[in-house]
Amino acid sequence: MRIVFLGPPGSGKGTQAQIVAKTRGIRQISTGDLLREAADRGTPAGLKAREYMEKGALVPDSIVIGLVREAISDTDQFILDGFPRNLEQAETLDGVLKEMNLPLDAIITIDVPLEKLVERLSGRLTCPECNAIYHTVYNPPRQKGLCDKCGKDLYQRADDTPAAITHRFETYKKQTAPLIQYYNKKGTLITVDGTKSIKEISADIRDIITRIEKDHGVQRSYPSG
Ligand code: AMP
Repeated sequence: MRIVFLGPPGSGKGTQAQIVAKTRGIRQISTGDLLREAADRGTPAGLKAREYMEKGALVPDSIVIGLVREAISDTDQFILDGFPRNLEQAETLDGVLKEMNLPLDAIITIDVPLEKLVERLSGRLTCPECNAIYHTVYNPPRQKGLCDKCGKDLYQRADDTPAAITHRFETYKKQTAPLIQYYNKKGTLITVDGTKSIKEISADIRDIITRIEKDHGVQRSYPSG
């Protein structure tokens, strides 16, 4: 199974990608996580990426595409979360997957109105160890401020501040939203209502994946071009 999760910041794509990865044993490749890890390790690319991330801007394609190529080189099943985020990345992904003879099964876009997103992002808490995602109201950890899975202190991401959130929305509207049309034209886009609860959205996604598995021949198509 090869899926792309597309959606604005705060739409829940990371949360849902983690659920699918866990329940199906498929690797989740989150470019945001890969970039944060590279920044924490202090690699030159990671440190450069951090400058962009803290402002809420996209990290240059030269850095991100390299990370994704490496991540997908040793697996034929994956969930891409946060990639592609612009047209150039989408076209590069098409080319790489074509070369590897690995068509995408689906692009799932999680649709949430912009007003709801600020509230979600400003309450988000992340685990620095396992990248688990929580929300102070909608998905609180069992013990306040601590990760359910590894017990680490949760933190608020540096780009979940009001100024960076505003910039991330602008970036999404200008650069990432056009991908909805791009994939729609290819006939591989499936839209999910992201205003529902985490459980309901995850049930919808589970049904979509089950349908795709049953209907493999029809859903699997190489991106044209
Ligand atoms: P995320 O964890 O998906 O919200 O990503 C956090 C930040 O990482 C984004 O605001 C960007 O600065 C950077 N980032 C993640 N994925 C990409 C990508 N595909 N292209 C460029 N920058 C990215």
